[in-house]
Amino acid sequence: MINNYIRKDLAGFTPYEPELGSYPIKLDANENPFVHNEGLLNKIKEFIMDSSNITRYPDTTSSLLKNKIAEYWQLKAENVVCGVGSDQIIDCMLKVLIEPGDKIVFPSPSFSMYKHSTVLNHGVPIEITLNQDNDYNYDLDEFIQVANKEKPKAIFLCSPNNPTGNVLDNDSIEYVLKNVKCPVVLDEAYAEFADTTSVALVNKYEHLVVLRTFSKAYGLAGLRVGYALGSKAMIDGIKLGMPPYNLNTISQYVGTLIIDQIDLYNKDIEFIINERKRLASELQTINNVEKVYPSEANFLLIKTNKSTLAKELKEKGILVRNFSSHPNMLNCIRVTIGTEEENNKLIEVLNTLL
Ligand code: PMP
Repeated sequence: MINNYIRKDLAGFTPYEPELGSYPIKLDANENPFVHNEGLLNKIKEFIMDSSNITRYPDTTSSLLKNKIAEYWQLKAENVVCGVGSDQIIDCMLKVLIEPGDKIVFPSPSFSMYKHSTVLNHGVPIEITLNQDNDYNYDLDEFIQVANKEKPKAIFLCSPNNPTGNVLDNDSIEYVLKNVKCPVVLDEAYAEFADTTSVALVNKYEHLVVLRTFSKAYGLAGLRVGYALGSKAMIDGIKLGMPPYNLNTISQYVGTLIIDQIDLYNKDIEFIINERKRLASELQTINNVEKVYPSEANFLLIKTNKSTLAKELKEKGILVRNFSSHPNMLNCIRVTIGTEEENNKLIEVLNTLL
């Protein structure tokens, strides 16, 4: 049986396979609901029409993009590494950190790739449960205690946390950094929608790595551009795990275009933050919505009395993320903040279903 060749410890492991197909309203993956401006789209068209941008291998180090990112954050190029989404950076980092059996600490619930990549890279996941009754806020002393006892190869913290939306401020991050020795990976995929970022701490703590992405606030999920910021030592380490030619030429180019016009996105970001506030307060008035968790991201976690809600919404053409069977998120769905029309439709349909 050819199956015998596949690692035995992966039996029961499910690949990450988000929903396929097209839905009139797609609120399941925390993407940006807006369209890019024509100026940007025309530049991309022109770029693709130059055949050498396709026939030649990409710049392995994404040097132009990396320099622009460094300049944006007032860091050096040696403090930046780009990847095929932050997903790839998580995986490459774990590749170089983990020797078989090493532990990796992360919160639960949180972004599923921390566990996925840990297991694939022969690590042992240690999940620290965030308390639902306390709006999933982090108990950082627990993280520090576990880190000091278990001696993990890294701790992941996600702020705003996906799928719960809560954040860790600078003082909290610094508290962890002062009390643990191992690498601390702070995933800031949604930080543009929050009041806080800890990028400034990169210059101060050698063991901090901050992950950022163009997939959310900057509407580039389809081109897969993510990056890590950290000390030269940590960034050099991550690079060891990177495959050659990872980020394609078009993605690198579009990433640089986005940085060149980054202020244009402020109005979309502001709109999404305002819609998040409106949606949260309107959802709270719906029958059988038991809780809308406070969120500083572009999504809301909602607890209702119905385990079949995500399925019923899907039948009505609205795709959301279903967490209803997760033991720490029973009957919860996560909805991305969409356009005004999409959000209105969501409220209208929820009023009929709940
Ligand atoms: N981190 C978090 C917390 C996320 O939610 C996501 C996307 N779902 C990612 C990282 C990965 O983003 P990307 O690979 O698109 O950069």
